[in-house]
Amino acid sequence: MPPGHRVAVVGGSLGGLTTALLLRELGFDVDVYERAPATLVQRGAGIGFLPDAARYLCERAQLPLDTLCVRTSRIRYLDRHGTVIHEAAHRYRFSSWNTVYGHLLSLWGRDRYHLDHEMTGWRETGDAVDIRFSHAAPRSADLLVCADGIGSSARARLLPDAQLRYAGYVAWRGTVAEASLPPAIGAAFDDAITYFVFANSHVLAYPIPGPTGSIVRGERLVNFVWYRNYMDGPELDDLFTDGTGQHRQLSLPPGAVAAHHVAELRAVAAARLPDPIAALIQASAQPFLQAIYDLDVPRMAFGRICLIGDAAFVVRPHAAAGTAKAAADAWALAEALKTQATIPQALAAWEPIQLALGRQLLERTQAIGRRSQSDGNWNPADPALLFGLRRSGEQ
Ligand SMILES: Cc1cc2nc3c(=O)[nH]c(=O)nc-3n(C[C@H](O)[C@H](O)[C@H](O)COP(=O)(O)OP(=O)(O)OC[C@H]3O[C@@H](n4cnc5c(N)ncnc54)[C@H](O)[C@@H]3O)c2cc1C
Repeated sequence: MPPGHRVAVVGGSLGGLTTALLLRELGFDVDVYERAPATLVQRGAGIGFLPDAARYLCERAQLPLDTLCVRTSRIRYLDRHGTVIHEAAHRYRFSSWNTVYGHLLSLWGRDRYHLDHEMTGWRETGDAVDIRFSHAAPRSADLLVCADGIGSSARARLLPDAQLRYAGYVAWRGTVAEASLPPAIGAAFDDAITYFVFANSHVLAYPIPGPTGSIVRGERLVNFVWYRNYMDGPELDDLFTDGTGQHRQLSLPPGAVAAHHVAELRAVAAARLPDPIAALIQASAQPFLQAIYDLDVPRMAFGRICLIGDAAFVVRPHAAAGTAKAAADAWALAEALKTQATIPQALAAWEPIQLALGRQLLERTQAIGRRSQSDGNWNPADPALLFGLRRSGEQ
């Protein structure tokens, strides 16, 4: 396809920025529109860092992988008393949302990263899409890429029947500075992902880069994710009502969770979790919450408009593959645009492969989640539990 097409990428997180960088390299005229009024901070703490998520930074920006993430070499399971009951050699990489976002944004630059631009709608006019924003003048584009995440308003308009389905549990998350932990506790999390699986729940912890991206021991953070069941309805509503009484559906950021829920979290951690993990949760100043949802879509391409990343499929986090999926959608889109003659042809060629990718990941992550949260048949030695985008155990 000839260069020069105007591309609007809506959503300036990891999926949107990766798309923008790749399409700019193809010679397209790309702008990123992000609804947040200031550059994004501290989203989602740690991320399992799969090859697709690292690909742009390593392959195109030539950043050494080992500077972007912490490498661990063991998978470790504890029992209630903190005794190691299963350990296997397996290499994982962990980064943080901040680290990856910071690099992608600095590569993209600020000139065409338009903050405070919430897309409110669009109109298709023959060969273009006219996009409206809440606080800014409309813009016209030849291709609209909607990378607007789990709560995508683009998806709601294009696919009103595609609804988020609550999985029955939430992720309590938090981070603690490694240096602030007692040495024995800090050492317990070094070089490993550490699990504790118990009745209808599981919790995992791993080291991630520090607030400024440092991967030096002592400057890093330890990240935890604790999956806990809450009934849909009043119980979940109460949990997601913040300290000021405002209810949110998807997540509560650090500092927003009501004090009595944080107190309950800490009390249950002390009563039921192995000491090192309980100590981590006690030390986390501002644990935060994300509800776990499933969502699949029958389509991702709509003429000159497409959905990528969480705007399309929302998968449970158990394969650590959400950001990798968003990046894979972006790489495949760039390849299709390079090889096809027109934008609609490129999107039509791109869509079936990305639909298949999303569907298999959704099914796999649902199966993993059921094992701990309802079925009680989590087997630490089962390779199906390993992280991966296209298959479990992908390195
Ligand atoms: C508990 C938990 C743990 C996870 N762990 C991992 C992990 O270990 N590894 C991993 O790879 N993934 C993980 N994920 C998944 C990962 O966070 C998501 O898949 C990923 O962030 C999706 O990226 P995205 O760019 O598609 O969407 P998002 O990161 O959600 O970004 C969407 C962006 O669009 C903007 N936006 C929304 N609406 C509009 C609008 N109308 N106009 C303009 N801008 C808009 C938003 O402000 C936001 O910046 C986890 C998720 C959860 C819930």
